Amino acid sequence: MKEFTPQQIDALSRLVSVDRFSTGQSNRELHLHDISAHRGVLPAGVIWPVATSEVSQILKWCYAQAIPITPWGAGTSTEGNPVPTCGGLVVDMTRMNQILAIRPQDLQADVQPGVLRKELNRRTGAHGLFFPPDPGADATIGGMIANNASGIQTVRYGATKDYVMKLTIVLPQGQVIHTGCTAPKSRPATT
Ligand SMILES: Cc1cc2nc3c(=O)[nH]c(=O)nc-3n(C[C@H](O)[C@H](O)[C@H](O)COP(=O)(O)OP(=O)(O)OC[C@H]3O[C@@H](n4cnc5c(N)ncnc54)[C@H](O)[C@@H]3O)c2cc1C
Repeated sequence: MKEFTPQQIDALSRLVSVDRFSTGQSNRELHLHDISAHRGVLPAGVIWPVATSEVSQILKWCYAQAIPITPWGAGTSTEGNPVPTCGGLVVDMTRMNQILAIRPQDLQADVQPGVLRKELNRRTGAHGLFFPPDPGADATIGGMIANNASGIQTVRYGATKDYVMKLTIVLPQGQVIHTGCTAPKSRPATT
C-alpha cells in the first residue's frame, strides 16, 4: 500500500498523541533504508508508540485493515532488516526508551525496547556492570534482540540472546504475551 486514506489517517491519529504519527515525506523517507544498499517501498506513515498498550492497539488495527507493519529500532542494521518491503506503517520504537529498573545485586535490568545500548551501558556502568553484546552500532535493545546481535565481545561473553531472560511481546493481532522469568534457575534441585 502506498498512501493512507483520510479515514485511515484519522483512525491512526486517534491511537497516539498528535505528534506521534506522521505521513510527512521526510519521516517516511528516513524510514526507508538502513546502512545497507537495500531499498524498500516507501511507507505510508510512521508511528511512535510509548507504551505496550499502544503497540497492541496499533497492531490490532493494522491487522484488521490488512496494513503491513515494520518495526524500527535505530535503523542500524546492515542487511536491510528494518526496511519496509510492502510500504504500510513503520512502528518506530525509539520513544519507548525508558530504563525501568536496574537491580545490580541480581545483574539484571528491565528496559523498554527503544533503549540504546550505550545508554544502558552508561547507566549500568555506575554499578560496575555492563551489557556485553557490542555490534559496533548504538543499536536499540529491541533491535538487538530481534537480530540476536553479536559483535567483538561475543567470543568471550556471548550474543544478545544470552542476556534475555524475560520478554513482553505483542503478536501481529495485538495480543500481549509474556515469556520467561527473572530467575536464572527456575526449579529446585532434586536430591
Ligand atoms: C558498524 C556495524 C557493525 C556491526 N557488526 C555486527 C556484528 O558484528 N554482529 C552482529 O550481529 N551485528 C552487527 N551489526 C548489526 C547490528 O546487529 C544491528 O545494527 C542492530 O542489531 C540493529 O539494531 P537497531 O536497533 O538499529 O534495529 P533496526 O536496524 O532498526 O531493526 C533491526 C530488526 O529488528 C526489528 N526490530 C527493531 N526493533 C524491534 C522491536 N522492538 N520489536 C520487534 N522487532 C524489532 C526490525 O524490524 C528489523 O527487522 C553491526 C552494525 C553496524 C552498523
